[in-house]
Amino acid sequence: MNEDVKATINIKDLFADDNQYNIPVELPFSKTTVKMREMVTSDQKTFLKNITRLDDTDFIQRKIGILFNDLLENICQDLDIATMTLQDKLYLLLFLRSRLRGDNTELSVKCEKCDHPIKFQYSLDRFVKKVKDVADSVETPKTMSFNDSTIVIDAIMIKEEIESDTLLSDKEWVEAEEIGISELSNLMRVTASIKEITVPKGTVVMSDYHMKERYEMLMRMPMDMMTKIVEEISQLIKSMFDIMSDKIEIPCLRDTCDGKTKTEIQIGDEGFFIKSSSE
Ligand SMILES: [Zn+2]
Repeated sequence: MNEDVKATINIKDLFADDNQYNIPVELPFSKTTVKMREMVTSDQKTFLKNITRLDDTDFIQRKIGILFNDLLENICQDLDIATMTLQDKLYLLLFLRSRLRGDNTELSVKCEKCDHPIKFQYSLDRFVKKVKDVADSVETPKTMSFNDSTIVIDAIMIKEEIESDTLLSDKEWVEAEEIGISELSNLMRVTASIKEITVPKGTVVMSDYHMKERYEMLMRMPMDMMTKIVEEISQLIKSMFDIMSDKIEIPCLRDTCDGKTKTEIQIGDEGFFIKSSSE
């Protein structure tokens, strides 16, 4: 008898459905730790099935963001995605993607000098490092003073991101994107970034109010105060966009060519499971 013969087990026990949340992930912004479980095939199936159900007229980017929120809540223990910051969500997605597809991804560009196609390896670690660097360098929450008032600004939470999205209709968002009105979407972010305002009359805690009321309050704010706040918050917003993109230079592979092609790698919710056209 061969002692190595394994006992036959039931097919249901092959990949036990024991939901063990045994992967700790330390979030760089909130400095808290969430526990994640392995993602299984049915998680991806649910995700992709929900994408295909999206209506053509939906603002795709927003809906995909929401699908990712659902996915993260499913695979992390006791995670309340609404109270998570945008940056920590991005970090969690990068972590998940590295586990699923490895740290490296193959991309290709065309040499801008000789048109020669160049394939190169890109390490997602670069993004992970960027998120950590920004988390260490950006000061949040931050209190600003104006004559007799103070304003507290802080990172945007997922709940606020979703709420500020509703300030425009799907159609208006699509139009704003098409004609590139970044000021408009920045104003939404400014609305979500202000957490508390204290004037001689008293203090208003923004989370007590719906995003629409917060937005209307901003519309009544004196312009000079608004300008200073936008300047300050722009730094926060810029750090957010800095995280999402990486500009690199790819040297040509041909000995006879000294071309260096500049390319920008962007990471977003889209293209997480589905390969983007540049991949
Ligand atoms: Zn070349």
